[in-house]
Amino acid sequence: MLSWDQRTYMPPLGAEARARQLSTLAKLAHEKLIAPQTGELIAAAEAAGGRNVHEQALLRVTRRAFDKATRVPLALVVEIAQTCARAESVWETAKHQNDWAGFAPWLEKIVHLKQQYARAIGFKQRIYDALLDDFEEGMTADDLDPLFAALKDATVPLVQAIVEHADRVDASLLHQPADEAAQQRFARRVLGDCGFDWQRGRLDLAAHPFCTNFGRDDVRITTRFEHDNASMSLFSCLHEMGHAFYEMHSGPELEATPLAGGVSLGIHESQSRLWENLVGRSHGFWQHYYPLWQQEFPAFSGLPLDGFYGAINRVSPSLIRTQADEVTYNLHIILRYEMEQELLEGRLAVADAPAAWNTKMQHYLGLTPPTHREGILQDVHWSGGGLGYFPTYTLGNILSVQFFEAAKAAHPAIPAEVGQANFAPLRGWLAENIHRHGKTFTPRELTQRATGSALTIAPYVCYLKGKFSEIYRLS
Ligand code: ZN
Repeated sequence: MLSWDQRTYMPPLGAEARARQLSTLAKLAHEKLIAPQTGELIAAAEAAGGRNVHEQALLRVTRRAFDKATRVPLALVVEIAQTCARAESVWETAKHQNDWAGFAPWLEKIVHLKQQYARAIGFKQRIYDALLDDFEEGMTADDLDPLFAALKDATVPLVQAIVEHADRVDASLLHQPADEAAQQRFARRVLGDCGFDWQRGRLDLAAHPFCTNFGRDDVRITTRFEHDNASMSLFSCLHEMGHAFYEMHSGPELEATPLAGGVSLGIHESQSRLWENLVGRSHGFWQHYYPLWQQEFPAFSGLPLDGFYGAINRVSPSLIRTQADEVTYNLHIILRYEMEQELLEGRLAVADAPAAWNTKMQHYLGLTPPTHREGILQDVHWSGGGLGYFPTYTLGNILSVQFFEAAKAAHPAIPAEVGQANFAPLRGWLAENIHRHGKTFTPRELTQRATGSALTIAPYVCYLKGKFSEIYRLS
Protein backbone atom coordinates (compact mmCIF):
# COMPACT_ATOMS: atom_id res chain seq x y z
CA MET A 1 0.00 0.00 0.00
CA LEU A 2 2.89 2.34 0.83
CA SER A 3 4.50 1.57 -2.55
CA TRP A 4 1.25 2.06 -4.46
CA ASP A 5 0.74 5.40 -2.76
CA GLN A 6 4.37 6.37 -3.39
CA ARG A 7 3.88 5.92 -7.13
CA THR A 8 0.42 7.51 -7.39
CA TYR A 9 -0.52 10.18 -4.84
CA MET A 10 2.41 10.83 -2.48
CA PRO A 11 3.72 14.42 -2.55
CA PRO A 12 7.30 14.50 -3.95
CA LEU A 13 9.00 15.44 -0.68
CA GLY A 14 7.48 12.44 1.06
CA ALA A 15 10.14 10.25 -0.56
CA GLU A 16 12.61 10.20 2.31
CA ALA A 17 10.14 9.27 5.03
CA ARG A 18 8.55 6.71 2.71
CA ALA A 19 11.91 5.07 2.03
CA ARG A 20 12.41 4.74 5.82
CA GLN A 21 8.96 3.22 6.29
CA LEU A 22 9.42 0.74 3.46
CA SER A 23 12.83 -0.38 4.66
CA THR A 24 11.53 -0.86 8.22
CA LEU A 25 8.76 -3.12 6.94
CA ALA A 26 11.13 -5.00 4.63
CA LYS A 27 13.52 -5.57 7.54
CA LEU A 28 10.75 -6.84 9.84
CA ALA A 29 9.44 -9.21 7.15
CA HIS A 30 12.94 -10.53 6.44
CA GLU A 31 13.64 -11.10 10.15
CA LYS A 32 10.43 -13.08 10.58
CA LEU A 33 11.16 -15.17 7.50
CA ILE A 34 14.70 -16.13 8.51
CA ALA A 35 13.86 -16.72 12.20
CA PRO A 36 14.97 -20.21 13.36
CA GLN A 37 11.40 -20.84 14.51
CA THR A 38 10.18 -20.43 10.92
CA GLY A 39 12.65 -23.11 9.82
CA GLU A 40 11.48 -25.44 12.60
CA LEU A 41 7.84 -24.96 11.63
CA ILE A 42 8.56 -25.70 7.96
CA ALA A 43 10.60 -28.80 8.88
CA ALA A 44 7.77 -30.05 11.13
CA ALA A 45 5.23 -29.46 8.37
CA GLU A 46 7.46 -31.30 5.90
CA ALA A 47 7.75 -34.24 8.28
CA ALA A 48 3.96 -34.40 8.55
CA GLY A 49 3.71 -34.26 4.74
CA GLY A 50 1.23 -32.40 2.55
CA ARG A 51 -2.21 -34.02 2.60
CA ASN A 52 -3.35 -32.54 -0.68
CA VAL A 53 -2.09 -30.58 -3.66
CA HIS A 54 -2.43 -27.23 -1.86
CA GLU A 55 -0.55 -28.32 1.25
CA GLN A 56 2.21 -29.79 -0.90
CA ALA A 57 2.43 -26.52 -2.81
CA LEU A 58 2.55 -24.55 0.45
CA LEU A 59 5.54 -26.63 1.53
CA ARG A 60 7.26 -26.05 -1.81
CA VAL A 61 6.68 -22.28 -1.81
CA THR A 62 7.59 -21.63 1.84
CA ARG A 63 10.65 -23.92 1.76
CA ARG A 64 11.89 -22.14 -1.33
CA ALA A 65 11.43 -18.68 0.18
CA PHE A 66 13.03 -19.72 3.47
CA ASP A 67 16.05 -21.38 1.82
CA LYS A 68 16.68 -18.41 -0.45
CA ALA A 69 16.43 -15.95 2.44
CA THR A 70 18.62 -17.94 4.83
CA ARG A 71 21.34 -18.99 2.41
CA VAL A 72 22.37 -15.40 1.78
CA PRO A 73 24.33 -13.91 4.72
CA LEU A 74 22.48 -10.98 6.28
CA ALA A 75 25.48 -8.69 5.69
CA LEU A 76 25.27 -9.41 1.95
CA VAL A 77 21.50 -8.82 1.91
CA VAL A 78 22.02 -5.43 3.55
CA GLU A 79 24.93 -4.52 1.27
CA ILE A 80 22.94 -5.36 -1.87
CA ALA A 81 19.93 -3.37 -0.66
CA GLN A 82 22.00 -0.32 0.25
CA THR A 83 24.13 -0.44 -2.89
CA CYS A 84 21.13 -0.77 -5.18
CA ALA A 85 19.21 2.00 -3.42
CA ARG A 86 22.12 4.38 -4.02
CA ALA A 87 22.90 3.01 -7.48
CA GLU A 88 19.37 3.73 -8.65
CA SER A 89 19.70 7.42 -7.90
CA VAL A 90 23.23 7.48 -9.39
CA TRP A 91 21.83 5.81 -12.50
CA GLU A 92 19.03 8.35 -12.78
CA THR A 93 21.50 11.22 -12.82
CA ALA A 94 23.94 9.36 -15.07
CA LYS A 95 21.21 8.61 -17.59
CA HIS A 96 20.05 12.22 -17.54
CA GLN A 97 23.61 13.47 -18.11
CA ASN A 98 24.64 10.65 -20.48
CA ASP A 99 27.44 9.92 -18.01
CA TRP A 100 28.53 6.28 -18.42
CA ALA A 101 31.70 6.82 -16.37
CA GLY A 102 29.56 7.97 -13.43
CA PHE A 103 27.53 4.76 -13.43
CA ALA A 104 30.18 2.19 -14.42
CA PRO A 105 31.73 1.71 -10.94
CA TRP A 106 28.27 1.05 -9.52
CA LEU A 107 27.47 -1.53 -12.16
CA GLU A 108 30.79 -3.16 -11.43
CA LYS A 109 29.91 -3.34 -7.75
CA ILE A 110 26.44 -4.72 -8.46
CA VAL A 111 27.77 -7.44 -10.77
CA HIS A 112 30.26 -8.41 -8.08
CA LEU A 113 27.56 -8.50 -5.37
CA LYS A 114 25.20 -10.53 -7.56
CA GLN A 115 27.97 -13.04 -8.22
CA GLN A 116 28.36 -13.45 -4.46
CA TYR A 117 24.60 -13.70 -4.09
CA ALA A 118 24.35 -16.42 -6.77
CA ARG A 119 27.11 -18.43 -5.13
CA ALA A 120 25.37 -18.12 -1.74
CA ILE A 121 22.05 -19.31 -3.22
CA GLY A 122 23.80 -22.06 -5.18
CA PHE A 123 23.28 -23.33 -8.71
CA LYS A 124 23.77 -26.57 -10.60
CA GLN A 125 25.04 -25.50 -14.01
CA ARG A 126 25.47 -21.81 -14.63
CA ILE A 127 25.70 -18.79 -12.35
CA TYR A 128 22.86 -17.14 -14.26
CA ASP A 129 20.45 -19.85 -13.10
CA ALA A 130 20.57 -18.66 -9.50
CA LEU A 131 19.45 -15.15 -10.49
CA LEU A 132 16.90 -16.22 -13.10
CA ASP A 133 15.23 -18.49 -10.56
CA ASP A 134 14.34 -15.47 -8.40
CA PHE A 135 11.97 -14.33 -11.13
CA GLU A 136 11.12 -17.59 -12.91
CA GLU A 137 11.05 -20.59 -10.60
CA GLY A 138 12.91 -23.57 -12.03
CA MET A 139 13.98 -21.90 -15.29
CA THR A 140 17.63 -22.19 -16.35
CA ALA A 141 19.86 -20.59 -18.96
CA ASP A 142 20.09 -24.02 -20.61
CA ASP A 143 16.30 -23.90 -21.05
CA LEU A 144 16.38 -20.39 -22.47
CA ASP A 145 19.36 -20.63 -24.84
CA PRO A 146 17.68 -22.77 -27.53
CA LEU A 147 14.43 -20.79 -27.31
CA PHE A 148 16.18 -17.47 -27.68
CA ALA A 149 18.46 -18.76 -30.45
CA ALA A 150 15.44 -19.95 -32.43
CA LEU A 151 13.69 -16.65 -31.83
CA LYS A 152 16.73 -14.69 -32.98
CA ASP A 153 17.01 -16.83 -36.13
CA ALA A 154 13.36 -16.20 -36.95
CA THR A 155 13.21 -12.53 -36.01
CA VAL A 156 16.32 -10.98 -37.55
CA PRO A 157 15.38 -11.90 -41.17
CA LEU A 158 11.73 -11.00 -40.54
CA VAL A 159 12.75 -7.55 -39.35
CA GLN A 160 15.03 -7.13 -42.37
CA ALA A 161 12.20 -8.06 -44.75
CA ILE A 162 9.85 -5.64 -43.00
CA VAL A 163 12.38 -2.81 -43.11
CA GLU A 164 12.58 -3.21 -46.91
CA HIS A 165 8.83 -2.56 -47.06
CA ALA A 166 8.63 -0.03 -44.25
CA ASP A 167 6.61 2.33 -46.44
CA ARG A 168 3.65 -0.06 -46.42
CA VAL A 169 2.65 1.06 -42.94
CA ASP A 170 2.37 4.64 -41.72
CA ALA A 171 2.44 5.01 -37.94
CA SER A 172 2.64 8.79 -37.93
CA LEU A 173 -1.14 8.94 -38.26
CA LEU A 174 -1.45 7.75 -34.65
CA HIS A 175 -0.22 11.14 -33.51
CA GLN A 176 -3.45 13.06 -33.22
CA PRO A 177 -4.71 15.37 -30.50
CA ALA A 178 -6.00 13.13 -27.71
CA ASP A 179 -8.41 14.56 -25.18
CA GLU A 180 -7.70 13.13 -21.72
CA ALA A 181 -11.34 12.75 -20.72
CA ALA A 182 -11.99 10.82 -23.94
CA GLN A 183 -9.02 8.53 -23.20
CA GLN A 184 -10.42 7.88 -19.71
CA ARG A 185 -13.89 7.11 -21.07
CA PHE A 186 -12.61 4.81 -23.81
CA ALA A 187 -10.23 2.90 -21.52
CA ARG A 188 -12.88 2.41 -18.83
CA ARG A 189 -15.40 1.24 -21.40
CA VAL A 190 -12.99 -1.34 -22.85
CA LEU A 191 -11.80 -2.55 -19.43
CA GLY A 192 -15.42 -2.95 -18.33
CA ASP A 193 -16.29 -4.87 -21.52
CA CYS A 194 -13.31 -7.16 -20.96
CA GLY A 195 -14.61 -7.96 -17.49
CA PHE A 196 -12.52 -5.76 -15.20
CA ASP A 197 -14.54 -5.67 -11.98
CA TRP A 198 -14.73 -2.08 -10.72
CA GLN A 199 -16.00 -3.30 -7.34
CA ARG A 200 -12.65 -5.07 -6.89
CA GLY A 201 -10.30 -2.87 -8.88
CA ARG A 202 -9.17 0.70 -9.55
CA LEU A 203 -7.52 2.65 -12.35
CA ASP A 204 -5.29 5.57 -11.33
CA LEU A 205 -2.55 7.67 -12.90
CA ALA A 206 1.19 7.00 -12.55
CA ALA A 207 4.29 8.07 -14.48
CA HIS A 208 5.28 4.41 -14.97
CA PRO A 209 2.19 2.19 -15.29
CA PHE A 210 2.03 -0.86 -13.02
CA CYS A 211 -0.40 -3.28 -11.36
CA THR A 212 -0.47 -4.14 -7.68
CA ASN A 213 -2.91 -5.83 -5.34
CA PHE A 214 -3.81 -6.33 -1.70
CA GLY A 215 -5.77 -9.53 -1.99
CA ARG A 216 -7.90 -10.78 -4.90
CA ASP A 217 -10.65 -8.25 -4.21
CA ASP A 218 -8.46 -5.14 -4.28
CA VAL A 219 -6.44 -5.04 -7.50
CA ARG A 220 -5.13 -1.71 -8.74
CA ILE A 221 -3.79 -0.72 -12.12
CA THR A 222 -2.36 2.59 -13.32
CA THR A 223 -1.81 4.31 -16.62
CA ARG A 224 -0.68 7.62 -18.02
CA PHE A 225 -2.27 9.68 -20.76
CA GLU A 226 -0.36 11.19 -23.66
CA HIS A 227 -1.79 14.23 -25.34
CA ASP A 228 -0.85 13.33 -28.88
CA ASN A 229 -1.27 9.55 -29.00
CA ALA A 230 -4.35 8.01 -27.41
CA SER A 231 -3.42 4.44 -28.38
CA MET A 232 -0.43 4.41 -25.98
CA SER A 233 -2.52 4.59 -22.83
CA LEU A 234 -5.11 2.15 -24.14
CA PHE A 235 -2.49 -0.54 -24.76
CA SER A 236 -0.87 0.11 -21.41
CA CYS A 237 -4.32 -0.23 -19.74
CA LEU A 238 -4.94 -3.54 -21.52
CA HIS A 239 -1.47 -4.72 -20.48
CA GLU A 240 -2.01 -3.93 -16.80
CA MET A 241 -5.53 -5.36 -16.98
CA GLY A 242 -4.01 -8.69 -18.05
CA HIS A 243 -1.85 -8.63 -14.91
CA ALA A 244 -4.90 -7.63 -12.85
CA PHE A 245 -7.02 -10.55 -14.10
CA TYR A 246 -4.36 -12.99 -12.92
CA GLU A 247 -4.67 -11.63 -9.37
CA MET A 248 -8.48 -11.13 -9.42
CA HIS A 249 -9.10 -14.72 -10.52
CA SER A 250 -6.74 -16.32 -8.02
CA GLY A 251 -8.72 -19.07 -6.24
CA PRO A 252 -10.64 -17.77 -3.18
CA GLU A 253 -9.38 -20.77 -1.20
CA LEU A 254 -5.81 -19.52 -1.69
CA GLU A 255 -6.56 -16.01 -0.36
CA ALA A 256 -4.22 -14.85 2.42
CA THR A 257 -1.87 -17.79 1.86
CA PRO A 258 1.55 -17.79 0.12
CA LEU A 259 -0.15 -19.56 -2.81
CA ALA A 260 -2.34 -16.60 -3.81
CA GLY A 261 -1.56 -14.73 -7.02
CA GLY A 262 0.72 -15.18 -10.00
CA VAL A 263 3.36 -17.91 -9.93
CA SER A 264 6.18 -16.17 -11.85
CA LEU A 265 7.02 -13.02 -13.76
CA GLY A 266 7.05 -14.84 -17.10
CA ILE A 267 3.59 -16.33 -16.64
CA HIS A 268 2.34 -12.98 -15.34
CA GLU A 269 3.73 -11.19 -18.37
CA SER A 270 2.09 -13.75 -20.67
CA GLN A 271 -1.27 -12.59 -19.34
CA SER A 272 -0.57 -8.90 -19.90
CA ARG A 273 0.86 -9.49 -23.38
CA LEU A 274 -2.07 -11.68 -24.32
CA TRP A 275 -4.59 -8.89 -23.67
CA GLU A 276 -2.36 -6.14 -24.99
CA ASN A 277 -1.23 -7.80 -28.24
CA LEU A 278 -3.33 -10.84 -29.10
CA VAL A 279 -6.59 -9.14 -28.18
CA GLY A 280 -5.89 -5.39 -28.25
CA ARG A 281 -3.78 -5.34 -31.42
CA SER A 282 -5.97 -7.79 -33.32
CA HIS A 283 -8.05 -6.88 -36.34
CA GLY A 284 -11.22 -8.33 -34.84
CA PHE A 285 -10.96 -6.19 -31.73
CA TRP A 286 -10.78 -3.02 -33.83
CA GLN A 287 -13.55 -4.06 -36.16
CA HIS A 288 -15.73 -3.70 -33.12
CA TYR A 289 -14.13 -0.73 -31.39
CA TYR A 290 -12.89 1.47 -34.21
CA PRO A 291 -16.22 3.28 -34.78
CA LEU A 292 -16.34 4.14 -31.07
CA TRP A 293 -12.69 5.22 -31.22
CA GLN A 294 -13.47 7.54 -34.13
CA GLN A 295 -16.33 9.03 -32.12
CA GLU A 296 -14.09 9.73 -29.13
CA PHE A 297 -11.16 10.93 -31.24
CA PRO A 298 -12.67 12.71 -34.26
CA ALA A 299 -9.24 13.27 -35.88
CA PHE A 300 -9.47 9.59 -36.95
CA SER A 301 -12.85 9.96 -38.63
CA GLY A 302 -11.49 10.03 -42.18
CA LEU A 303 -8.98 7.25 -41.66
CA PRO A 304 -9.90 3.70 -42.74
CA LEU A 305 -9.66 0.82 -40.25
CA ASP A 306 -6.89 -0.97 -42.14
CA GLY A 307 -4.59 2.05 -42.01
CA PHE A 308 -5.16 2.31 -38.28
CA TYR A 309 -4.67 -1.45 -37.77
CA GLY A 310 -1.35 -1.29 -39.62
CA ALA A 311 -0.24 1.75 -37.63
CA ILE A 312 -0.81 0.14 -34.22
CA ASN A 313 1.19 -2.86 -35.44
CA ARG A 314 4.04 -1.06 -37.13
CA VAL A 315 7.45 -2.72 -36.86
CA SER A 316 10.49 -0.49 -36.81
CA PRO A 317 13.93 -1.11 -35.31
CA SER A 318 14.46 1.44 -32.56
CA LEU A 319 16.89 2.17 -29.77
CA ILE A 320 14.58 2.13 -26.76
CA ARG A 321 13.27 -1.19 -25.46
CA THR A 322 10.13 0.19 -23.82
CA GLN A 323 9.02 1.75 -27.10
CA ALA A 324 9.78 -1.30 -29.22
CA ASP A 325 7.14 -3.10 -31.29
CA GLU A 326 6.06 -6.74 -30.95
CA VAL A 327 8.71 -8.11 -33.33
CA THR A 328 11.84 -6.16 -32.42
CA TYR A 329 11.13 -6.15 -28.67
CA ASN A 330 12.61 -9.60 -28.13
CA LEU A 331 15.89 -8.62 -29.78
CA HIS A 332 16.30 -5.95 -27.09
CA ILE A 333 15.79 -8.65 -24.47
CA ILE A 334 18.15 -11.17 -26.09
CA LEU A 335 20.87 -8.51 -26.18
CA ARG A 336 20.49 -7.89 -22.44
CA TYR A 337 20.26 -11.61 -21.64
CA GLU A 338 23.51 -12.32 -23.47
CA MET A 339 25.30 -9.40 -21.85
CA GLU A 340 24.14 -10.30 -18.34
CA GLN A 341 25.59 -13.78 -18.74
CA GLU A 342 28.87 -12.45 -20.09
CA LEU A 343 29.15 -9.99 -17.20
CA LEU A 344 28.30 -12.56 -14.52
CA GLU A 345 30.59 -15.20 -15.96
CA GLY A 346 33.43 -12.68 -16.19
CA ARG A 347 33.67 -12.94 -19.99
CA LEU A 348 32.86 -9.25 -20.36
CA ALA A 349 34.37 -6.43 -18.30
CA VAL A 350 32.06 -3.59 -17.27
CA ALA A 351 34.47 -1.18 -18.97
CA ASP A 352 33.83 -2.93 -22.31
CA ALA A 353 30.08 -3.19 -21.85
CA PRO A 354 29.01 -0.08 -23.83
CA ALA A 355 30.99 -1.23 -26.87
CA ALA A 356 29.50 -4.72 -26.57
CA TRP A 357 26.03 -3.19 -26.32
CA ASN A 358 26.51 -1.10 -29.44
CA THR A 359 27.95 -3.99 -31.45
CA LYS A 360 24.96 -6.18 -30.61
CA MET A 361 22.50 -3.36 -31.40
CA GLN A 362 24.09 -2.97 -34.80
CA HIS A 363 24.06 -6.70 -35.36
CA TYR A 364 20.45 -7.37 -34.31
CA LEU A 365 18.69 -4.13 -35.18
CA GLY A 366 21.03 -2.33 -37.54
CA LEU A 367 21.30 0.67 -35.24
CA THR A 368 24.05 2.23 -33.15
CA PRO A 369 22.95 4.37 -30.20
CA PRO A 370 24.29 7.92 -30.58
CA THR A 371 24.37 8.31 -26.78
CA HIS A 372 24.62 6.01 -23.75
CA ARG A 373 21.28 7.39 -22.62
CA GLU A 374 19.74 5.71 -25.65
CA GLY A 375 22.02 2.70 -25.19
CA ILE A 376 23.34 0.95 -22.13
CA LEU A 377 22.02 3.53 -19.66
CA GLN A 378 18.37 3.33 -20.75
CA ASP A 379 16.97 0.73 -18.30
CA VAL A 380 16.60 0.94 -14.53
CA HIS A 381 16.91 -2.84 -13.99
CA TRP A 382 20.66 -3.26 -13.55
CA SER A 383 20.96 -0.37 -11.12
CA GLY A 384 18.26 -2.02 -9.00
CA GLY A 385 20.14 -5.33 -9.01
CA GLY A 386 17.58 -6.96 -11.33
CA LEU A 387 20.02 -9.10 -13.31
CA GLY A 388 18.09 -12.15 -14.53
CA TYR A 389 14.82 -10.23 -14.85
CA PHE A 390 14.83 -9.32 -18.55
CA PRO A 391 14.22 -12.81 -20.01
CA THR A 392 10.82 -12.94 -18.30
CA TYR A 393 9.53 -10.31 -20.75
CA THR A 394 10.28 -12.52 -23.73
CA LEU A 395 9.06 -15.63 -21.91
CA GLY A 396 5.81 -13.73 -21.45
CA ASN A 397 5.60 -13.05 -25.19
CA ILE A 398 6.28 -16.68 -26.07
CA LEU A 399 3.79 -18.00 -23.53
CA SER A 400 1.09 -15.48 -24.43
CA VAL A 401 0.72 -17.18 -27.81
CA GLN A 402 1.05 -20.70 -26.44
CA PHE A 403 -1.78 -20.01 -23.96
CA PHE A 404 -3.92 -18.20 -26.54
CA GLU A 405 -3.59 -21.14 -28.94
CA ALA A 406 -4.62 -23.54 -26.17
CA ALA A 407 -7.65 -21.37 -25.36
CA LYS A 408 -8.60 -21.32 -29.07
CA ALA A 409 -8.21 -25.09 -29.31
CA ALA A 410 -10.71 -25.41 -26.46
CA HIS A 411 -13.03 -22.66 -27.79
CA PRO A 412 -12.49 -22.14 -31.53
CA ALA A 413 -14.99 -19.25 -31.51
CA ILE A 414 -12.74 -17.03 -29.37
CA PRO A 415 -11.39 -14.87 -32.24
CA ALA A 416 -14.92 -14.28 -33.54
CA GLU A 417 -16.14 -13.53 -30.03
CA VAL A 418 -13.35 -10.98 -29.52
CA GLY A 419 -14.66 -9.29 -32.68
CA GLN A 420 -18.04 -8.96 -30.95
CA ALA A 421 -16.52 -7.67 -27.69
CA ASN A 422 -17.54 -10.92 -26.03
CA PHE A 423 -14.48 -11.61 -23.90
CA ALA A 424 -16.06 -13.90 -21.31
CA PRO A 425 -15.08 -17.22 -22.96
CA LEU A 426 -11.39 -16.21 -23.25
CA ARG A 427 -11.32 -14.72 -19.76
CA GLY A 428 -13.03 -17.82 -18.40
CA TRP A 429 -10.50 -20.16 -20.00
CA LEU A 430 -7.58 -18.18 -18.57
CA ALA A 431 -9.18 -18.04 -15.11
CA GLU A 432 -9.93 -21.75 -15.11
CA ASN A 433 -6.65 -23.04 -16.53
CA ILE A 434 -4.13 -20.51 -15.23
CA HIS A 435 -5.34 -17.86 -12.78
CA ARG A 436 -7.26 -19.85 -10.20
CA HIS A 437 -4.26 -22.06 -9.46
CA GLY A 438 -2.14 -19.24 -8.03
CA LYS A 439 1.24 -20.75 -7.14
CA THR A 440 -0.15 -24.27 -6.67
CA PHE A 441 1.87 -25.54 -9.63
CA THR A 442 5.35 -24.52 -10.74
CA PRO A 443 5.50 -22.47 -13.97
CA ARG A 444 6.63 -25.59 -15.80
CA GLU A 445 3.77 -27.73 -14.45
CA LEU A 446 1.23 -24.99 -15.09
CA THR A 447 2.30 -24.59 -18.73
CA GLN A 448 2.12 -28.33 -19.28
CA ARG A 449 -1.32 -28.63 -17.67
CA ALA A 450 -2.81 -25.61 -19.44
CA THR A 451 -1.44 -26.27 -22.93
CA GLY A 452 -0.71 -29.99 -22.95
CA SER A 453 2.92 -29.31 -23.82
CA ALA A 454 6.12 -27.91 -22.38
CA LEU A 455 7.15 -24.33 -23.09
CA THR A 456 7.65 -24.13 -26.86
CA ILE A 457 8.64 -21.39 -29.27
CA ALA A 458 6.89 -22.74 -32.39
CA PRO A 459 3.42 -21.17 -31.93
CA TYR A 460 4.96 -17.78 -31.19
CA VAL A 461 7.25 -17.77 -34.25
CA CYS A 462 4.32 -18.90 -36.40
CA TYR A 463 2.17 -16.08 -35.00
CA LEU A 464 4.83 -13.41 -35.64
CA LYS A 465 5.51 -14.58 -39.19
CA GLY A 466 1.81 -14.91 -40.03
CA LYS A 467 0.59 -11.64 -38.58
CA PHE A 468 3.38 -9.40 -39.82
CA SER A 469 3.78 -11.01 -43.24
CA GLU A 470 0.13 -10.16 -43.77
CA ILE A 471 0.37 -6.59 -42.51
CA TYR A 472 3.50 -5.91 -44.59
CA ARG A 473 2.30 -8.05 -47.52
CA LEU A 474 5.53 -10.09 -47.53
CA SER A 475 5.65 -13.06 -49.87
ZN1 ZN B 1 3.87 -6.32 -17.53
